[in-house]
Amino acid sequence: MALKFRLKGLAETFIDELSCPGCGKCGKDDDDFSTEHTKVTFDGIIVVVQCRRCGEIFVPGTQRLGVLNPEALRDAVVKDSADTGEPLMENFHAVRLSAEKLNAQRKGDLH
Ligand SMILES: [Zn+2]
Repeated sequence: MALKFRLKGLAETFIDELSCPGCGKCGKDDDDFSTEHTKVTFDGIIVVVQCRRCGEIFVPGTQRLGVLNPEALRDAVVKDSADTGEPLMENFHAVRLSAEKLNAQRKGDLH
């Protein structure tokens, strides 16, 4: 069983297995990893994972992105950003930067 993320008719992303860069924990389901920071971009759904054991936030390089309808996805991303007031993230790179920032903030809080 792989982890699946789907926006109906727009995009889907699959992840076979996760391994945490912080503590080395491996797994592939919600019991081990939280995915609440996942973002939708023009490139597709970029899954952002948080390890439930050590709290590390990371963007797995093993995810497979599929975009079913690029135009509709683009519209949905723009609309969602307008509706929520959250900054629009265009691609994988932007999401990874944001995850790194979250992680740095999290670590800053510990000290
Ligand atoms: Zn971990």
